Amino acid sequence: MSKKHLSADSSSRTRELADLILNHKRAYYAGQPQISDAAYDKLEDELRSLSPSHPILELIGIEPKESVGRKVKHDRPMLSLQKTYSLDDLYSWAENHEIIGTYKVDGNSLSLVFEKGALTLAKTRGNGFIGEDVTDKILWVPDIPSKLSNDFTGEIRGELYCFESQFFRLADEMAALNLDKPTSTRNIVAGILGRKTHVELARFFNFFAFDVASENLAIKTEWNLFLQLKELNFHTPEPVLLNTKDDIEEYLEHVKNAMDEGEIGLDGAVFSYNDRSLHEELGATAHHPRYKMSFKWPGQTAKTKISEFLWETSRLGFVTPVAIVDPVFLSGASITNVTLHNAAFVKTYNLKKGDDIEIIRSGEVIPKFLAVISESPGSFSWPKECSSCHTGLEFDGVRLKCPNTKNCPAQQLRDILNWIKCAEIEDLSEKRLAPLLNSGLVGKKSDLYSLTVEDFLKMPFTKEKMAQKLYTNIQASKTLPLPNFLNGLGIEGAGITTWEKLLSIFPSLEAIQRATLEEIKTIDGFAEKSAEQIVSGLREKTSDIVNLLSAGVAPVAQSLSVSQTSSAHPLFGKQFIITGALSKPRSEIEKLIKQVGGVIGSSVSKNTFALVTNETDSSSSKMKKAKELGTAIWSEDQLLQKLIGSK
Ligand SMILES: [Zn+2]
Repeated sequence: MSKKHLSADSSSRTRELADLILNHKRAYYAGQPQISDAAYDKLEDELRSLSPSHPILELIGIEPKESVGRKVKHDRPMLSLQKTYSLDDLYSWAENHEIIGTYKVDGNSLSLVFEKGALTLAKTRGNGFIGEDVTDKILWVPDIPSKLSNDFTGEIRGELYCFESQFFRLADEMAALNLDKPTSTRNIVAGILGRKTHVELARFFNFFAFDVASENLAIKTEWNLFLQLKELNFHTPEPVLLNTKDDIEEYLEHVKNAMDEGEIGLDGAVFSYNDRSLHEELGATAHHPRYKMSFKWPGQTAKTKISEFLWETSRLGFVTPVAIVDPVFLSGASITNVTLHNAAFVKTYNLKKGDDIEIIRSGEVIPKFLAVISESPGSFSWPKECSSCHTGLEFDGVRLKCPNTKNCPAQQLRDILNWIKCAEIEDLSEKRLAPLLNSGLVGKKSDLYSLTVEDFLKMPFTKEKMAQKLYTNIQASKTLPLPNFLNGLGIEGAGITTWEKLLSIFPSLEAIQRATLEEIKTIDGFAEKSAEQIVSGLREKTSDIVNLLSAGVAPVAQSLSVSQTSSAHPLFGKQFIITGALSKPRSEIEKLIKQVGGVIGSSVSKNTFALVTNETDSSSSKMKKAKELGTAIWSEDQLLQKLIGSK
């Protein structure tokens, strides 16, 4: 049992089981049991195998005893972060240092104390010196292990937060319990941590670790710190190594996109010096450490009124509500549209025509809803059918969906628009594409490539010069980078970074199409669900791929710099697992492997090329697995020889 790893999959199953058990308990004590005792015991047994000390297993009856949050001191103060809105300030702070960037998650800071692998205390930040004991709530959080797989003694710090989809489920449950409705994904975390009853509501939260302190750990770099946290089976925000101003700028673009699209509430990025000897050297002020800096985009809020709702069908069939609001000036632009994310959002806030709302715009392009200021009477409403194809809509608990994947004009239009964006075809806007679809000239992506100048001339408002230009742009887009080609297919759950990561292991279109579910699942960062989406998505898009290729589209497998310098290296595309202490910081060794196109994995599998360790007599689980699978076991010296010797 102690070897049980806490993966993303097991924590979501833990959450599911806790939900089921709690609902059955409530039904049972209300005198309306829904399943047999034996079936109920089976659920408890499964939960016990995943999370032996889960608090629901200790519950007698349904009401946990009243929670009292006593005050507890922090051994090391939990300071705030220095924060800036200015790129110049950020650059001058970062100057000449290698830094690590991560998302800044909008939640509540937590400190977790472990003794010999067991969670003994969880506390809030409080005033930075004294926090509040919230252990009884934290035991419910599915991705905070109450028992680690080793005997770690020390402190883990991180952020407790609420996924958007969990927020809606939590709001429903709070309504059913007659509790006040939560107002935002951020406020709800503090709200539940401060509660005296219903501590089980904390099971809707997730945790990202970002700091570890222990007498037995000497961590030289921030990069290594994140690896250590992952090794202790904590989820962390994905760290990115940044060396130049350009790196930082590119990373901030990436964070902005994540803020627009992501499911996690982000409010910027956090940067820290990678070299931890600098952390000790620079120390902290009374308020914040000098070796960390957070960056936020200046946000502006405004008040306006909802005049109308638009329900747009996306390329994947999700029907997304947009509020049309009275025009208001915000961060340099006149705003008339506000995204409302999904149907559950409209229900949770009971949004309707005539409501006065507050909106905010910071890093993102599209402003966001912040709060209802005053409500108009009545109740929210949802559309019954897709506005494009009139098919009845389905509700998955969070989103409305048009199930007509084959023949919905809105889905087709947006799917082809996504291809146009990924293939970087200029001037072919939605306004120009729609008539091509209506006239039947274009029905699928590959049809674009057989369009002639004459075809464009038949379209409204298109003169000779523009028709020629559109034709040339489309033909020129036939040669495109393979990641863009894959991204343009429009597979659910995969963005450009997903494809780039996959291509580092399966370096061609054929190799990616051949990759199995099992192979993708073993790659660091790919959970079962996303691996499934990729494999089934690629299968569904087979005819798209064939049609595009026979229309003359020619994806280019590698960017030139990588293919010329690295693909020739014998270790290109090979997966390595590193374990135990090395003579150099692990991040340096990893960098060398990555430089020749190698990949770092997190656990030994049949895709592992070699296990790198200096402790060849170790009895670690990684070593056992490598021996079992017959994986090569290399010392650090052997690795360096192969890396540098054959350059
Ligand atoms: Zn439809």
